[in-house]
Amino acid sequence: MKRGLLLCVCQGTCPSFHKMDIFEVLNSLRREGIFEWVGLHPQLCSDDGDKYLRELLKGAEIDQLYVAGCDPTMQKKMYRDAFEAIGFPKEKHIGVEIRNMDTQQAIDAIKKAVEENK
Ligand code: SF4
Repeated sequence: MKRGLLLCVCQGTCPSFHKMDIFEVLNSLRREGIFEWVGLHPQLCSDDGDKYLRELLKGAEIDQLYVAGCDPTMQKKMYRDAFEAIGFPKEKHIGVEIRNMDTQQAIDAIKKAVEENK
């Protein structure tokens, strides 16, 4: 199973992400080899975030795209157009809520989502 992980952090200005070290979240997970690749985008729900998703996922060889950030239901609505535009199956997207968590809690939440979607 090939997995990609994106962190999305409301531009880094939102207090919901201030308790965690976002780079340590990414580093910890990539060291464990759970994901083929990891990445960070400041605001996937903006116009350039939409473009980024389209470019990144066009022809991407992954079975699952995890996006750790805001509420998964909100994510589904906000990324829908980008996924549809490039034919990326929306079932491959798995949102993980990590707002208001510290570093370890965010890591654990992402790992739990992977376990639940194996
Ligand atoms: S997609 Fe969610 S986490 Fe990312 S910037 Fe928008 S509201 Fe924030």
